[in-house]
This record gives sequence, structure tokens and C-alpha cells, in this order.
Amino acid sequence: MPTVIVTGASRGLGRSIATDLARRGADVIATARSAELLADLADDVDGVEVLAGDITDPATRAGVVDLALARFGSIDGLVNNAGMLDPVAAMHDAHADDWAANLAVNVTAPVALTALALPALRAAGGRVVNISSGVANRPVVGWGAYCTAKAALKMATEVLAAEEPDITAVSVRPGVVDTAMQAEIRRVGASVMTPEGHERFLDLYETGELLDPAVPGSAIAAVALHAPASMSGAFVSWDDDEVLALGS
Ligand code: NAP
Repeated sequence: MPTVIVTGASRGLGRSIATDLARRGADVIATARSAELLADLADDVDGVEVLAGDITDPATRAGVVDLALARFGSIDGLVNNAGMLDPVAAMHDAHADDWAANLAVNVTAPVALTALALPALRAAGGRVVNISSGVANRPVVGWGAYCTAKAALKMATEVLAAEEPDITAVSVRPGVVDTAMQAEIRRVGASVMTPEGHERFLDLYETGELLDPAVPGSAIAAVALHAPASMSGAFVSWDDDEVLALGS
């Protein structure tokens, strides 16, 4: 049975990815800061082991890798899903500490966790799935740190793919998903986003067009288990034909 680590698994997209992986028969190591939500996940879903901690803390990263290897003996997949939007602020109001906090979660932590898991991933011919965003490729007013981080994670995925022929590394755009992050965009976005930019997210919510996290979650689980080597380095959308063909 494959073993897959999922970060940011306490809620939203990460919880759905972890749940879907377990449904497909994987052994899952789920991590995030919210211990109670993780305990609920472990209670609700067979095959999920949890470890609570901040992914920017080296001890958390070492803990999840050690737990996977001690409990299951291998690491076949790593889904770097934990992410944060803040700071929502214009570039003229950028503060170094706020940017560093964003990049620590969205870029440095997934890169460092991948490095720790790499020996086991190589041995298993495993897969790294980095959850990126459409904003890796297009600017959004007020989202400087987040757009920059998602673009950086996309490039980190490409470099990883170029360096590591024994693994498959893929960036996935999950679509616009009905999670706490979208609620935050609706709540704080008006202060700094363009009126049209903010309105778009309000409209998607009000017209019921946000994706249920279970839908891209299933597609991403399939990428984590089945992405072919030919996909390594690619930036794909959850609903691309080549992704759906993997069995979402
Ligand atoms: P969410 O509901 O806010 O979930 C974020 C997850 O990341 C939570 O489980 C959170 O858990 C975890 N997390 C945040 N900071 C962390 C930290 N320092 N240490 C450990 N875990 C941390 O958002 P989501 O929408 O599901 O986002 C999941 C991923 O999808 C993110 O990478 C996001 O950028 C990406 N994405 C989302 C959308 C969308 O429309 N929702 C679109 C494009 C990309 P704790 O708070 O328990 O730590």
C-alpha cells in the first residue's frame, strides 16, 4: 500500500485530499497545526495517521517523515498543500516580516519537507505534488506575497523535476475552492483588491460556483498516486484532461 504525506490536512482542500487518498487505499500521514481537527480526521477516516505541528518548524517536518517511515516503512507521495494568503496588502505597504511568514509556509516549508523526504521518495519512485494556483501565472492586486510564493513553488517544482529523475514532481492548480481561504478573500479583499477583482470572488460564492473541495481533492489524490514520469515538472490544472484521465 502506498504511503502519502499530506500537509495542511486539517480542513479545506488538504482534508479532502487526505480523505480521498485513504479511500483509494493509501496509508496517509496528515499534518497541520490544529490538533483537534486532525483528531477528527483520524476518527472519521480509516488509514489516516496524524501529527500536529507548524510546518515551518523543522521538528514538525522531521516528525512527519519519521512517523511515515516508522509506521509504514516508505514514502510514496508527498502533497505539499499547506498554504496561507496573508498578507493581503499592496506592494507599497509590504513588510519584510509579513512576506517572510508567507514565504516560510508557502515555499520554504514545502521545499525543506521535500528535501527530507527525498531519500525515501527516490527509493519508492515516488511523487511530489505541490499545490500551486492560477495566480502563479497572473498578478492579483493586493496578493503580492501569495502570487510570488505560488510562482516560486511552481519553479521549485520544475527545478526538482530537472534534478531528480527517480521521482515525479508536479504543480497543481486546484481551481477556486470553497474553503476558509476563499472566506478570507471575501472578508478582507475589499480593502486592497480592485473592486472587480474582489467582486469576482463574491460572485463565484453567491452563484454557487466555488468548487466543493472533494472534487479537486479527488483529482489531486489521483495525481499523487498515479502521475506518470512524463508529467514531471508540469504545472497542471485539476481539471486538465491528462489529470482527469488518472482517475479522479
Ligand atoms: P485553508 O482552508 O485555509 O487550509 C489551509 C491549510 O493549511 C489548513 O489545513 C491549515 O491548517 C494549513 N496551514 C496553514 N498554515 C500552516 C502552518 N504554518 N503549518 C501547518 N499547516 C498550516 O485553505 P485551502 O483553500 O484548503 O488551501 C489549500 C491549498 O490550496 C493552499 O496551498 C492554497 O494556497 C491552495 N489554493 C487554494 C485555492 C482556493 O480557492 N481555496 C485556490 C488556489 C490554491 P492549520 O490552520 O490547522 O495549521
